[in-house]
Amino acid sequence: MNTPLLINNTGKMQAWSESARSRGLRLGIVPTMGKLHEGHLSLVRVAASSCDRVLVSIFVNPTQFGPGEDYEKYPRCLEADLNALAGEGVSVCFAPSVAEMYPHGQADNLTVEWGKKALCGAGRPGHFDGVTSVVSRLYNAMQPHVAVYGQKDAQQALIIRRMTESMLFPVKTVLGAIVRERDGLAMSSRNIYLDPAERERALTLSRALTRVGESLRAGERDPGRLQSIGNGALSGIDGVEPEYFVVVDPATLAPHENKVDGLLLIACAAKLGKTRLIDNHVYRIQGDDVRESMLF
Ligand code: AMP
Repeated sequence: MNTPLLINNTGKMQAWSESARSRGLRLGIVPTMGKLHEGHLSLVRVAASSCDRVLVSIFVNPTQFGPGEDYEKYPRCLEADLNALAGEGVSVCFAPSVAEMYPHGQADNLTVEWGKKALCGAGRPGHFDGVTSVVSRLYNAMQPHVAVYGQKDAQQALIIRRMTESMLFPVKTVLGAIVRERDGLAMSSRNIYLDPAERERALTLSRALTRVGESLRAGERDPGRLQSIGNGALSGIDGVEPEYFVVVDPATLAPHENKVDGLLLIACAAKLGKTRLIDNHVYRIQGDDVRESMLF
């Protein structure tokens, strides 16, 4: 069990990565906000499968939280996170302060227009600007060859891939599958906010997604009907406040025109009390064939 080297400073981080790169090592990063769970650790393993060194960042990024969101109370537990990483062969944990990441304050940012107003962006204006602003800084600080993200945050992964292509970052965007609890709830650092009743009701999200998957498998291809099946399954439950349920083409984040075909993203968000959760399923549809799939 080797605890990763803890680096808090961007200059030191750049020097470490430059030295590793000069020795021909391929670097994979897993950006996180900490309170690590099995979902994060699965991404570490994905990174390790194609890289010589894995680096994990832990940074609760203020610019991706809106007013009234949970920035202040977001769980911070660096010690426990370092212990979790110790068993995974992670070389570096980069845990900078806000001042390190935003040396001139939070006004200078990198924005990607594509997709930022759809799905989660509708209810969280500015959220994806915050994500692309911090990820671009992490790339400059950590200088990875590969960056691994979870399909759990499907829209985020698509926007980051878009940013990487648009800005010509020499970084490969790689996805890891969603890791779930035994009963189907997608793992999330925010699940610790749920009281027992909310934890039970949180299954509404994965069940609604499964319900739409069953309809797809039964032959339903009408995007509007699929969406209303999902909306129906997510609505009308005491204590669950749906934010959206969409059935979209991941290439546009808009519904397919007539019938769903090819890659399909079924995504939803809902609030359980004060806790906002998201989840999704991705399918590849070819004629009668319906398979769960990775987005890319
Ligand atoms: P977070 O710490 O929540 O910002 O997440 C950091 C990374 O872990 C993101 O790329 C997430 O998509 C990914 N992630 C979070 N939850 C899961 C999960 N249940 N399964 C797989 N990846 C996840």
